[in-house]
Amino acid sequence: KAAGRGTYRVFDAGAQARATTRSQLALDMKDGIRRGDFRLVYQPVIDLTTNRVTSFEALMRWQHPSRGPVPPGDFIPVAEETSLIVPLGAWALREACREATTWPDHVRVAVNVSALQFRTGLEEAVIQALALSGLPPCRLKLEVTESVLMTKSEHGLATLHRLRAMGLRIALDDFGTGYSSLSYLRRFPFDKIKIDRSFISDIHDPDAAAIVRAIVGIGERLGMGITAEGIETPDQLARIRQEGCTEVQGFLFSRPLPPDEARRFAERDGGVPDGIHGRLLRRA
Ligand code: C2E
Ligand code: MG
Ligand code: MG
Ligand code: MG
Repeated sequence: KAAGRGTYRVFDAGAQARATTRSQLALDMKDGIRRGDFRLVYQPVIDLTTNRVTSFEALMRWQHPSRGPVPPGDFIPVAEETSLIVPLGAWALREACREATTWPDHVRVAVNVSALQFRTGLEEAVIQALALSGLPPCRLKLEVTESVLMTKSEHGLATLHRLRAMGLRIALDDFGTGYSSLSYLRRFPFDKIKIDRSFISDIHDPDAAAIVRAIVGIGERLGMGITAEGIETPDQLARIRQEGCTEVQGFLFSRPLPPDEARRFAERDGGVPDGIHGRLLRRA
């Protein structure tokens, strides 16, 4: 085995190492799911018109027994390739819905969903998560990327319509990074469009700001709300506000939080007249 690896190294050490890491991750993932090494953390989304938390986005974390924390950017693609995203995603839905029942009634939970889940039992998983938790469907939001609508079949679209008819909210994630994003806005009436973080980190650039303003305008005309993700600085907040964006998410307000901290964040924020971010938001 060691000799084999040595032989590969001569040709392309990097590619071989990456392939090995991926197939090893795939193997470890099965054990990890069984052992309960996956967790959800929750990042608040804030409405600038009320300075209150409107929802939390559930984000998956994997604490690997020997590698330590593995970032979702590394393990989600592996989970998709191996189809393990189907049971893992169903678990995330159950877990997020259960957690959301401990928050104030007006606070929703958003769960990211991969395209493969749409083709493999997503509706059943949603129905089960809602039934087990007792969470009203209107408090569950799914975040999808345009890949869900990219397949030629109408299956993804039909599924989105049925989920919406059940009372769920649907958000289009990472908007502006794909191939032909505007055409997808005509195919489905999303409740929210989440502007990709790359536009926010470039917002000091007048061209990026112009694009954000245009997206906000399109959202208004189409009746879709806009969320700006990845706000890190007061300057970015001030600029995003100037472009008419009213819902925000980012490290400036909070990192993704473990469940108990998210719960405290929601309770505290709901109890104070101006919301705990009032001062921070007014300053910017
Ligand atoms: P996403 O859905 O676009 O989630 C937003 C990502 O941006 C999260 O990364 C979040 O931690 C990060 N973020 C939030 N605010 C800031 C900020 O101010 N600055 C910076 N630099 N980053 C910020 P994370 O948790 O690493 O997740 C990455 C991606 O992995 C997610 O992007 C999503 O596409 C995917 N993912 C995470 N959890 C799940 C899941 O349960 N299911 C599926 N299918 N995908 C997931
Ligand atoms: Mg998301
Ligand atoms: Mg995103
Ligand atoms: Mg993403």
